Amino acid sequence: MNSRYFTEEHELFRQSLKDFLQKEVVPHIEKWEETGHIERFVWEKFGEMGFFGIAYPEEYGGMNLDLFYTVILLEELQKVNSGGFAAAIWAHTYLAMTHVNKEGDHAIKQKYLAPSITGEKIGCLCITEPFGGSDVAGMRTTAVKKDDTYVINGSKTFITNGVYSDYLVVAAKTNPELGNKGISIFIMDRDTPGISATKLDKLGWRASDTGEIAFDNVVIPASNLMGEENKGFPYIMQHFALERLIMGINAHARAEFALEYTLKYMGEREAFGRTIDKFQALRHKIADRYTEMEICKEFNYSVASRLDQGEYVVKEATMSKLQCTKMSDEVMYDCLQFLGGYGYMEEYPLARLLRDSRLGPIGGGTSEILREIIAKMIIDKKDYKPAT
Ligand SMILES: Cc1cc2nc3c(=O)[nH]c(=O)nc-3n(C[C@H](O)[C@H](O)[C@H](O)COP(=O)(O)OP(=O)(O)OC[C@H]3O[C@@H](n4cnc5c(N)ncnc54)[C@H](O)[C@@H]3O)c2cc1C
Repeated sequence: MNSRYFTEEHELFRQSLKDFLQKEVVPHIEKWEETGHIERFVWEKFGEMGFFGIAYPEEYGGMNLDLFYTVILLEELQKVNSGGFAAAIWAHTYLAMTHVNKEGDHAIKQKYLAPSITGEKIGCLCITEPFGGSDVAGMRTTAVKKDDTYVINGSKTFITNGVYSDYLVVAAKTNPELGNKGISIFIMDRDTPGISATKLDKLGWRASDTGEIAFDNVVIPASNLMGEENKGFPYIMQHFALERLIMGINAHARAEFALEYTLKYMGEREAFGRTIDKFQALRHKIADRYTEMEICKEFNYSVASRLDQGEYVVKEATMSKLQCTKMSDEVMYDCLQFLGGYGYMEEYPLARLLRDSRLGPIGGGTSEILREIIAKMIIDKKDYKPAT
């Protein structure tokens, strides 16, 4: 336990979460990895345990706890070794629900946030489009105001929980001629006429459903606009700080899990009459990778602490995702190598870890885009300000 950041209460929470995951989640992971569909009962059980509500207001059934409970949730989710399961849970809890909580009004929160906390409703966040994900401002989906409704047309892709979720948080252009100043955020029910979704097949994150979604003259009440019209881009950018830190934390946690597993394996596997953890060539690589993982972890804890105290840590969260996802990929590559042929086998954890880790430098802002953002901040002195 790192007592600078974690109290005894945190550790009790960690233990009960671990027990829950071992009992209710681990026995089903292989099935969900195969089918790409996480069964409903587990969402409800997460809700009953209160795990979806740890960061949200008590008024809507949440617990309003500090950010280190979220850190623990993210870390332990990585340790069941299903990046897809973890993604489904945190995309609902920290992508979709963050927008509902921050930009939704009381009626929207009652309708969507409260049942998201109990696990009755699952959400997804739809920003990326088939024409491009990095260039958020270039999105083409439109929302045209008509009397007291908006009519949505366009498409989104690579959306986590895109097929099985109950509601969608969607970014669309209300004023296309204004570029990134013409984007707004809407919420809509899955069963609204005109919404259709197709499931995508993918390299990793196999337990999560990833969907391409079409909006064909979808009519929603004007009251489903979240926050102010045309403020969508700053809202998205503002929440990217948390999203990117989440992806950094996920990366340090899965790297730690892979290193711990590999060290145990190396202590048991023998070659040339001794266990392979005695070979200097491997020991030094483990030392390097462990050092990098620990540095990432400490950095993430310090950024989480600052974010929790209300600092706008967009630069640090961007650095976290950039560096930690790179570190995680390198850890997976080496750990798989240290397992030899067994590393390549599906019955050992490294194959899935390697596949799942590879999404880190792509999803939620590619490493190239993150470098651009960091360069703008440190070279051009660009100052990204929070929207609210
Ligand atoms: C499994 C999965 C789950 C996802 N979940 C979600 C989700 O829930 N919601 C959501 O909205 N999105 C989601 N995404 C989308 C993800 O965020 C995008 O894939 C990502 O932002 C990149 O966009 P793109 O795929 O369109 O790549 P592109 O933007 O087409 O980029 C292609 C390449 O060009 C590079 N590039 C682009 N612009 C520049 C530049 N200016 N300088 C240098 N290089 C550049 C990129 O770095 C990349 O290497 C998910 C993606 C995956 C694969």
